[in-house]
Amino acid sequence: MLKILQQYYSATEDQRVIDFMDRYFRYQLATLPQKPLGNWTFWAEYRGADNMQIVHWLYNIIGEPYLLELGELIHKQGFDFTNMFMNTNALQRYNSIHCVNLAQGLKEPVVYFQQSGNRDHVAAVKKGLRDISRYHGQAQGMYGGDEGLHGNSPTQGSELCSTVEMMFSLENMLEITGDMSFADHLEKVAFNALPAQVTDDFRYKQYFQQANQVMVTRHHHNFYEDYSHGHTDIVFGTLSGFPCCYSNMHQGWPKFTGSLWYATADNGLAALVYSPSEVTAKVGANATEVTIRETTAYPMEETITFEIDAKRQVEFPLYLRIPAWCNDKFDIKVNGRNAEYSIANNDGVAIIDRKWKKGDTITLTLPMSLRTSRWLEHSVAIERGPLVYALKMNENWTRRELEGDEAEQFGKVFYEVTSDSPWNFGITRPSLDRLEETFIVECDSTRLKNNFFWNLESCPISIKTRMRPVKEWGLYNEMAGPLPNEHTESRLPYQEVTLVPYGCTTLRVTQFPVLRCD
Ligand SMILES: [Zn+2]
Repeated sequence: MLKILQQYYSATEDQRVIDFMDRYFRYQLATLPQKPLGNWTFWAEYRGADNMQIVHWLYNIIGEPYLLELGELIHKQGFDFTNMFMNTNALQRYNSIHCVNLAQGLKEPVVYFQQSGNRDHVAAVKKGLRDISRYHGQAQGMYGGDEGLHGNSPTQGSELCSTVEMMFSLENMLEITGDMSFADHLEKVAFNALPAQVTDDFRYKQYFQQANQVMVTRHHHNFYEDYSHGHTDIVFGTLSGFPCCYSNMHQGWPKFTGSLWYATADNGLAALVYSPSEVTAKVGANATEVTIRETTAYPMEETITFEIDAKRQVEFPLYLRIPAWCNDKFDIKVNGRNAEYSIANNDGVAIIDRKWKKGDTITLTLPMSLRTSRWLEHSVAIERGPLVYALKMNENWTRRELEGDEAEQFGKVFYEVTSDSPWNFGITRPSLDRLEETFIVECDSTRLKNNFFWNLESCPISIKTRMRPVKEWGLYNEMAGPLPNEHTESRLPYQEVTLVPYGCTTLRVTQFPVLRCD
């Protein structure tokens, strides 16, 4: 509720929000000592950071010292994520924490860092994120967590609430720390996991998605708590699985859009996450109003253009994030000429500090070369820029209807998605060794003008390659069976296959076994 009121205030500046929050937080400070966060359930202890960040937000507006006292109290009563990440092996175990509590709560140390000033809190979260990826990671930037944390098989479920809450946590931590690894991770989740888990019209969603998802049917899968969900966890529905995601998914894109641009301490502007957008802000020594229009088909293209609009000339620094994946092979031009810039403390941000005038155009090029990431059983995912690529499969959508109690619980309609495409492919080692020669990237440039990329029909980028089928790899519980390991061979003939961005797929294989044979 506090987050909703904060957003409402950001749109309306309705003073009643400030008055209400001031009174509510005084009430919290007075009553929490007797009735702590965990008084009724444990959920509030895991999600205290969301409470704390609104306390900090109000403090930055009204400056009342009691708010910092309340922040301290919420930190003390909340779950200790710093300790969990630094001193326990909880992230190496299954079911040690609820998947959404982890996505939502993992920002707590960084939010609290604003009060503590202790850098250990930031280091704890960075270690936590590394461990989540190592022990539960899937290639789209999320993790196996189908209720409880559930390991790194690419067929474990990843909840839609985890996707949008992970994005919100990364957005907050980026804003607080200026650490660009959070921005890289944010783009990975936003441009891969999020668009894949919701239908194009935003009317249906999956409760859980899988990195290797070859059938979307109502069936028993290897998830926690499956029985109470009527086996509807991965179908596209409204209330299917559990209703939380249907009320939570809407925060994904709006909060992402609100997290593209940042004010800097030296009266400049920072573009830290890229998407078509327009920002108006006061910059420079005299707070001159400037508008910057960002035009791009990123993440589908490598070039991002910014155009300045200002009534008069104004000097201010413009910060541009350089993603880690481009390995410093970027190019910045101002009005068609090589730009002068500095790099901020080696942290992946280029700063162009100069006098700007109306019509100045900055062109940022971030070359996207192919690379791989390694997952369970040394399986391989193909990545390029912020996008992960997955096997393109035919998709047949079938509408199903429910009645009576089931309709009440899971919604009247849901969709299953099946395919007649083969999917059990492995990448051979020689192919991997010559990635740029064996994986051919194709771009349909007319599609770059589309307003919407996230389905097979509109997708502008595809990668053509050859893979060998693995005959032992078949279905299990109406999903891709256990991944063949790194000693697997296949003599079945190569077949031509196409990879497309993960976010454009509904059915897919993303983590491919690597085959020994030539
Ligand atoms: Zn949910």
